[in-house]
Amino acid sequence: MALMKCPECGQNVSTQARTCPACGYPLKAEQRPMHEQSALQSPHVWGRVARALGAWLVTPWIAKLIVALAVCVLAYFMFTGK
Ligand SMILES: [Zn+2]
Repeated sequence: MALMKCPECGQNVSTQARTCPACGYPLKAEQRPMHEQSALQSPHVWGRVARALGAWLVTPWIAKLIVALAVCVLAYFMFTGK
């Protein structure tokens, strides 16, 4: 396990540490975008998708119509906005 200096307080902290134990500085902040990419594979995301799908199935048709209209308007502005 390697040690590095905390950029905030200069304490020696483990490179495995998420935050500096002395000052709480987030040491692994720069690795967050990579984490977000793998979030698509994590099971709780699919749980959320399933719940969204379930919510969609119980949504009244009028709400679906409003969403469909919103998508049409959005698509219209995207194609004519150029
Ligand atoms: Zn620190």
